[in-house]
Amino acid sequence: MHTDARTLPNGTVLEGDLCIVGAGASGITIAREFANSPLKVLLLEGGGFEFEQQMQDLYRGENVGLPYFPLQAAALHYFGGTTNHWAGYCSTMEPIDLEKRDWVPHSGWPITRADLDPFYARAQPVLDLGPYKYDAADWKNNDPDRVPLLGDSRVVWTKMWQFSPPTRFGTKYRDEIVKSPNIHLYTHANVVEIEANEGLTAVRSARIRSFDGKEYHARARSFVLACHTIQNARLLLASNRQATTGLGNANDLVGRYFMEHFEMPSGELALADPQSTKTKLYELANLGGPPRGELALTAATQREHRILHGTANVEAGNYGDQVPSTFQFIDTVMMNKVREWQKGGRKGPHPIGIAAAALAPRDKGPPRFYHMMTRQEQAPNPDSRVTLSTEKDALGVPRAKLDWRVTELDKRSIRTFYQLLGREMGRTRTGRVQIRDWLLSDDKTWPAFISGGWHHMGTTRMHSDPRQGVVDANCRVHGLANLYIGGAAVFPTAGAVNPTLTLVALSLRLADHLKS
Ligand SMILES: Cc1cc2nc3c(=O)[nH]c(=O)nc-3n(C[C@H](O)[C@H](O)[C@H](O)COP(=O)(O)OP(=O)(O)OC[C@H]3O[C@@H](n4cnc5c(N)ncnc54)[C@H](O)[C@@H]3O)c2cc1C
Repeated sequence: MHTDARTLPNGTVLEGDLCIVGAGASGITIAREFANSPLKVLLLEGGGFEFEQQMQDLYRGENVGLPYFPLQAAALHYFGGTTNHWAGYCSTMEPIDLEKRDWVPHSGWPITRADLDPFYARAQPVLDLGPYKYDAADWKNNDPDRVPLLGDSRVVWTKMWQFSPPTRFGTKYRDEIVKSPNIHLYTHANVVEIEANEGLTAVRSARIRSFDGKEYHARARSFVLACHTIQNARLLLASNRQATTGLGNANDLVGRYFMEHFEMPSGELALADPQSTKTKLYELANLGGPPRGELALTAATQREHRILHGTANVEAGNYGDQVPSTFQFIDTVMMNKVREWQKGGRKGPHPIGIAAAALAPRDKGPPRFYHMMTRQEQAPNPDSRVTLSTEKDALGVPRAKLDWRVTELDKRSIRTFYQLLGREMGRTRTGRVQIRDWLLSDDKTWPAFISGGWHHMGTTRMHSDPRQGVVDANCRVHGLANLYIGGAAVFPTAGAVNPTLTLVALSLRLADHLKS
């Protein structure tokens, strides 16, 4: 069922069993798990079914740390959320990503990769991915030309990726949600405050506000905040009438440990064998295309060198090329072309596929020269954080203020990764790696713009100890009996993969917990 909240009379009180705030990847995944059940689900979405500038402006905020993407451009505020423009890159976290690593301060999830496995398998079809197979050997069986570089190395391995078409949750799941008799979707229902009981032990209601000043309340037995990483923290911090530092923030952790993935051109790779077809496994043929590999260091090597987890994407180029990599292209030029292609009914090949072909080597024969782009986790850092700005949005909620910071371990890890990769390429006579100048400088020096991947993680991290995390292993906010967080805000560490597959898996896990 669907209602535009703007049509409700002022003072309306909505009642349900479960109230989910935010209808993006996480919120829609959880709501679908309850479709056609006896439980009444309230799904409150701030935006409508289409992009609206006035709504998007509610996401505007301040960047006071490292230069970062404007906050109103880094996530989308309407039904389907940021999946309305995500790119669909998916892979799984590795077991080491969830472990406590003594060289990575604040690392360690209260759950393991084995706990996530069944939910990863269930998340695959939600994102229109293939079978739950992320082993390069599986894909080599389908195509003998897809051979990993350095197949027998103990230092370097090939981490596999799959590509969602990409699934637009707002388009794909709209009918299912709207037709479900027990899911009550309210659009244009911006939640401006979470209200607790007097003892601050449980949530009683969510306060909703419209642009014309009307207010409504949603009451339920359980609540899930699924508003995306920055907005989840902002909403908890702004719910500060009863708890002056914000809800769930007794230990001053809400908003802290904001993390991104570094996605930066970092080196070049020249292969020794001009006839090598091995890099076919690594080709970005097209978004939504076949699985693809990225080079990564084994867990044992990360342990030995006490570094973070990163991968290198290899992409064909020409020696001395000044042409930007496809990834720089995506950020600067291509997104406009992708939007035109989408608006034009997706006719013809995907523009990013065309760009990749245009950037491919002009020499005859198989490519020998490749650009390498890093995709690396950053170390969790309590000073990298979201707080409230003094400026308020049109609904009276303080805007988000992002202070994004990096650490010396982050820089040292990228450099060590490329040094080890280069040594292993040389030792096995596979090729040579040239490391970009910015990476060779000291651990504190970075380029003027450190590019993230548009991945927001942290801010309500998971830990069994309330003094070290905002939510417990079931994503429940410590100290509040019925408030849960959906999305990558709960990640204690980021791994070296884009977040959506993992956050959908965690949302399915949360739905199972709520059902029980
Ligand atoms: C350009 C770009 C490319 C990306 N590519 C990839 C990729 O290739 N792979 C990958 O894994 N990830 C990618 N991502 C990240 C991915 O889009 C996000 O991880 C994912 O959408 C987050 O899901 P979510 O449910 O937490 O948040 P969202 O999908 O953003 O959903 C949050 C929802 O909450 C609603 N909301 C917010 N505040 C309120 C409020 N106060 N009241 C009511 N509703 C509210 C929003 O309108 C929205 O619908 C990309 C992101 C961008 C920007």
